[in-house]
Amino acid sequence: MMTSVKELVRPPSGRAVGIFKVDIDKRWCDCGEFQALHYPCSHVIAACSFIHHDYMMYVSSKYTLQCIFDVYKEEFPAIPLQSYWQEYNGTELCHNLAMRRDPKGRPQCTRIHTEMDQREKNTHPNRN
Ligand SMILES: [Zn+2]
Repeated sequence: MMTSVKELVRPPSGRAVGIFKVDIDKRWCDCGEFQALHYPCSHVIAACSFIHHDYMMYVSSKYTLQCIFDVYKEEFPAIPLQSYWQEYNGTELCHNLAMRRDPKGRPQCTRIHTEMDQREKNTHPNRN
């Protein structure tokens, strides 16, 4: 069932008030929030109120406590002592020493000085 919802209050996001088409059966709203979040936007809540539907039935099961409990239902294996770890035989990567930054002070300037820099240096009153 397609419903048209007219906003009466300017939304906090700053956009202008508008008229939005809502299709509750297809779980679709013009604003796109309902499809993206799987959670009723203000337009869907208004449309549900108009047809005396409980909007909570359109909240995705992803938002339920049971879903969160199911995520953490799996047990995490304990990490054994390091002496029980198997020896690593894979590829070893090393950092490039040339890329190493001087740990103290400011990084050195790598800018290439040009003819323009020379001219500025000569015309500066304090440096002559
Ligand atoms: Zn909407």
